[in-house]
Amino acid sequence: MSSAGIYIHIPFCRSRCSYCDFATGIYEGTLATSYVDALVKEIVAWRDVESPAAIDTIYFGGGTPSLLSASQIQIILAAIHTRFVVKAEADLEVTMEMNPGTVTPALLEEFRRVGVNRASFGAQTFDDRELARLGRSHTAQETRETFTHLRAAGFDNVSFDLIAGLPGQTLDGWKRNLDEALGLRPEHLSFYLLEVHEGTPLAEHIRKGMQPQPDDDLAAQMYELMLDRAGAAGYEHYEISNLCLPGFESRHNTKYWTGAPYYGFGCSAHSYDGSLRRWSNERDVARYTALVQRDSSPIVERIELSDHQAGAEALFLGLRMMQGVDLKRHHSQFGDDPRESHQADLARFQEAGLIEFDGDLIKLTRSGTLLSNEVFSAFV
Ligand code: SF4
Repeated sequence: MSSAGIYIHIPFCRSRCSYCDFATGIYEGTLATSYVDALVKEIVAWRDVESPAAIDTIYFGGGTPSLLSASQIQIILAAIHTRFVVKAEADLEVTMEMNPGTVTPALLEEFRRVGVNRASFGAQTFDDRELARLGRSHTAQETRETFTHLRAAGFDNVSFDLIAGLPGQTLDGWKRNLDEALGLRPEHLSFYLLEVHEGTPLAEHIRKGMQPQPDDDLAAQMYELMLDRAGAAGYEHYEISNLCLPGFESRHNTKYWTGAPYYGFGCSAHSYDGSLRRWSNERDVARYTALVQRDSSPIVERIELSDHQAGAEALFLGLRMMQGVDLKRHHSQFGDDPRESHQADLARFQEAGLIEFDGDLIKLTRSGTLLSNEVFSAFV
């Protein structure tokens, strides 16, 4: 069995961004303490897989996990070591999502000391007006400073999150953003097109005409521009939304796309056994904490996949990777060759230039990455 990843959800932020619909709330010390206690209890009592795979990635996501103290992170890591077989430090990727301005040089050194060796850094944009419009709690200057602090603390594997397609954002503005991000030379870039979720302040602002509608065609141009500029700067496009310098793929996130097992802890965390079972936890922090405190399971949903569903998932998740999906291996694993079962759809996509074949490999083309949902929907 392939190695597994552990995801730890930390649902606290310093303030609420206008576009956010994640399971996260405002940081409060007492709440964070009881949440960490619940996390530790959930991890130590965990029995959801009979023989769990050895762990080689741990990912602290959120929210803003860097609002926790280094000793709280250490306590959570110790609980993971108690319950799981964890690979040696040299083979272990431990990522923490961080937001600029939430960490001091001393705290970064502490995080590094307790074992965090990769930072996923919510830069989003280097334009202060755009940051303010998004309700982000930091400035571009804080991003630059925090990046310098990360390097000084010994973080030699740093990923930037960037968002394009913001209301009012121009292609020139995006170009300046990219140049600034690439100039800092992080090892990894994650790129998101802004999604406007109902119920968020941003959706309300757009509805009331206080902010313009995002322009999808312009966002597509921004995506292409990023691939061109980052490619010229030596970054490899390895997944629809992710690029990296050679050898710096996110090992944890790659598990999500390649069918490897991952075990999630904390509110709203999702898990997969690497075969036919998926499950997820209670989304609300208070309800999650109360469930764990009274020794009840925080799991609120369990899904048993059929072989057909597992095969479809393997295809549309695997196609997110630019290396594509090996159809021969897919056939031996799931008993299905999409070249036969989806002959008409694949011919249509190939004709439209969205997919290509390379021996037994099927891959998205660059145009295909922009219309990936259309391709994926054929397999669902
Ligand atoms: S920092 Fe991230 S998780 Fe927190 S409110 Fe902003 S977008 Fe949401």
